[in-house]
Amino acid sequence: MAWRIVTGSISHETNCFSPILTGIKQFMERDMAEGERILTRAKGTKTALGGFIDWAAETGSELIPTVSASATPSGIVERAAYETIKAKLLDGIRQAMPRVDGVLLALHGAMVVDGIPDAEGDILQAVRSLVGPDVPIAATLDFHANLTDAMVQTADGLFGYNTYPHVDGWERALEAGRFLERLLKKEIRPVSVMVKPPIAPAVVTARTGRGPIKDLMEAAFRWEKEPGVLNVSVYGGFVYSDIHDAGLAFLVTTDGDADLARSIAWDLAKSAWNMRERFVADMMSPDEAVLYAMKAERGPVVLADVADNTGAGASGDGTEILRALLRHGAQDAVVITMPDKDAVQEAFRVGVGGQFDYPVGGKFDDKHGAPVRLRGRVKLLSDGTYVNRGPMSTGAKGRMGKTAVVVASGVEVILNEYRFQPLDPECARSVGIDPAHRKIVVVKSSVHYRAAYEPIAAEIIEVDGPGLASPNLDRFDFKHIRRPIYPLDREFEWG
Ligand SMILES: [Zn+2]
Repeated sequence: MAWRIVTGSISHETNCFSPILTGIKQFMERDMAEGERILTRAKGTKTALGGFIDWAAETGSELIPTVSASATPSGIVERAAYETIKAKLLDGIRQAMPRVDGVLLALHGAMVVDGIPDAEGDILQAVRSLVGPDVPIAATLDFHANLTDAMVQTADGLFGYNTYPHVDGWERALEAGRFLERLLKKEIRPVSVMVKPPIAPAVVTARTGRGPIKDLMEAAFRWEKEPGVLNVSVYGGFVYSDIHDAGLAFLVTTDGDADLARSIAWDLAKSAWNMRERFVADMMSPDEAVLYAMKAERGPVVLADVADNTGAGASGDGTEILRALLRHGAQDAVVITMPDKDAVQEAFRVGVGGQFDYPVGGKFDDKHGAPVRLRGRVKLLSDGTYVNRGPMSTGAKGRMGKTAVVVASGVEVILNEYRFQPLDPECARSVGIDPAHRKIVVVKSSVHYRAAYEPIAAEIIEVDGPGLASPNLDRFDFKHIRRPIYPLDREFEWG
């Protein structure tokens, strides 16, 4: 049976504490494509769109592309940019009508638009009013989605990533496609129940390889094996979106059995509540971490600057760990990376071998430490392109922009132009630095870096530096998230 399925992708993880507003320019910088190009580009990739394409091939269905838009995590999305992108999606669906059998979307779930806290709920509702009540809609969501009633009630099925680091976009898309297929064949009558315990974990404490989320995810997989259960998803949520519904969620979809869905979702939510104390990060201060790493017998000791993760909307130019390295005279250390256009320009001006004496970092805002005066020598200049070796985004091209390595006593600093998450060590290898051969390695990332760094690190230390992805939630002025909520509030009962 061949169906006509409309597809598209809109994705942004919004950190409402970031002063960097997200406009059409930010989408253009990362991804903004329309029509067939979306499919030719995604074909054969392990992305969500790649998964939809493979499912369509499996069933002989026709995929009708609309729009693919994503921007690097940053502040609130401007209304005009959002309306433009949404219009492209809706126009694409309109053109495909009247014969549209289903809709498959790859969304994020934590996009906040000026005046629209639940952007994905808004998108799904707009699609629903266009296609009507009888055309099934399924979507994949990021593990960091802040699930809402509007999303759950509007879509027929939602499929959240089961991994953080995210490595299963393709698998979830395939699952969404097969779900849609069973729906179109009238083999199932899905009902979904969502339960949200009052917990909003920092991203660092909600990874899937270890800790409380690992246990909850394993419980979810066990439930998925029960007869009649179609999907059980665990969502970490994205606390920094600071919307009413931000935080942990459990979504269970069964074949017509609402009671079963409800009891599973509650079971998981209660387990999460009982282990809530495990959602608090145990971190060292920059000084403690640097001194600890200097004394360590074996390297590399990876100092994860978890709060300065551009992938969660931080600026990426945090300076406090660099400052501590210089203060304590650390040797054989590298900072990956420090986005700072002016400093890069200065390094290119003085040239390789030249003396560098310039303030670096801490320039995007006042939330990531003050600039550090870096005095040293320019070791290398580069155009900043590299290819990811994986396991995340294997084969994908990375662009740091113009890049310079400056050596200041025993500390190498990779200065580059663009905000990006240096989750793959290849970005450092491309400028002659193999992190496996340094004693101390500072990486600006919360969790994604683990996929490539765990195999090479002697030890990983999470550092409590300043930044918009800090697990230290007391540092933020939350305004919209529902209260009480753990760990912002500690003394209350639930359940
Ligand atoms: Zn995510």
